[in-house]
Amino acid sequence: MSQTSFDIQQAAVIGAGTMGRGIVMCLANAGIAVQWVDNNPQMLEQALGTVADTYAHNVRQGRIDQVEADARIARISAAADYPAIRNVDLVIEAVYENLELKQRIFRELDGLLKPEALLASNTSALDIDAIAAATRRPSQVLGLHFFSPAHIMKLLEIIRGAQTSPAVLEAALRLGKRMGKVSVVSGNCHGFIGNRMLHPYVLEARKMLLEGAYPQQVDAALQGFGFAMGPFRMYDVVGIDLEWRARELAGKGQDAPEVQVDNRLCEMGRFGQKSGNGYYHYEPGSRQAEHDPEVDALVLRVSEGLGFQRREIGAEEILERCLLALVNEGAKILQEGIAGSAHDIDLVYLNGYGFPADKGGPMAWADQQGLADIHQRLLALQTRQGDQWQPARLIGELAAQGKGFAEC
Ligand code: NAD
Repeated sequence: MSQTSFDIQQAAVIGAGTMGRGIVMCLANAGIAVQWVDNNPQMLEQALGTVADTYAHNVRQGRIDQVEADARIARISAAADYPAIRNVDLVIEAVYENLELKQRIFRELDGLLKPEALLASNTSALDIDAIAAATRRPSQVLGLHFFSPAHIMKLLEIIRGAQTSPAVLEAALRLGKRMGKVSVVSGNCHGFIGNRMLHPYVLEARKMLLEGAYPQQVDAALQGFGFAMGPFRMYDVVGIDLEWRARELAGKGQDAPEVQVDNRLCEMGRFGQKSGNGYYHYEPGSRQAEHDPEVDALVLRVSEGLGFQRREIGAEEILERCLLALVNEGAKILQEGIAGSAHDIDLVYLNGYGFPADKGGPMAWADQQGLADIHQRLLALQTRQGDQWQPARLIGELAAQGKGFAEC
């Protein structure tokens, strides 16, 4: 199939949940006919209603006219089953985050779709090669990682599997452009660029809760730096329960000290904005995060229960640990070739994670500090807190040459 240019005229989306809804609108807005499958007919019906409501809202806001809204809705149709979508050029799968389920769907679609069709997964972190291995067309399998809400967020991570062909990546980049996205190609690793970097960043934020900080204080420090949202407000928006359920399902990670505050919140039904309470309190119908002293009391109980001697943690330490965790993981991503350039990493953080635009992204921010300085600061953290802070090899090398990430 290496000769074809993979022209995408008709697509299908599998899954009518949070992500499927946004992805369907992205495709329809770009003029692409899209068929929609969900094994729960009620979910699909509800999703079609939500999409129609969104377009009606856009018309009321004057963002599109009725003719355009009607045209977009006309491009979307429900499909009863997989055989009904056999002629599409691209399928984007957005079902539950479960490898076996995704493999089963890819295997079945591979047997039905025309040979030149592309198969994409919206997985947040799963192994694209393991998904591709379920098919006989691994060169035409890739990740298309949208961010929530998909029809609004600009970022699209395009995940290149070991066998994804250059022509397929080209087609994905063209599609990203048609949908008005900022596309960044990422190699295949757990969490890809964005979520892989998020992991050590959030880990530091969680550790600081145990050591002496409170959620509001951590968020205030990072928002003071310019982030759209601190990590705990972000978890309230995403849903604290997603990772909690994933840990439960995987049967691992639930005992780690850092997740004990999350675990207690979830056990209390405090899942975040959607349940009216999470790290913060939300009045009915409001998205305004309000400080909740009960959460501070919970943090104190958990941290003392785990035997931590709490201490004052200032904004400076919060920034130092969270930002350097991002930069160090970003450097590893760069040295492993997962990201093509430091600029790509910055695009991911600026367009998908609310990193302050005036700082240029985490890697540009590190370059502004000077990598020799960043290297020293990581070594200081390593001395104080252990080897998780060992500077990425690339930082030492660039610092020694007096270079920045932008020059490698
Ligand atoms: P969701 O739970 O909101 O929706 C999943 C949908 O898949 C449901 O409507 C369900 O009925 C349907 N489904 C389940 N099994 C199916 C099957 N066998 N055939 C057809 N439909 C089936 O999930 P979501 O939040 O939209 O996440 C979907 C995917 O997107 C996951 O892989 C997730 O990791 C990823 N993702 C989520 C977000 C996010 O913020 N929610 C962001 C990026 C990526």
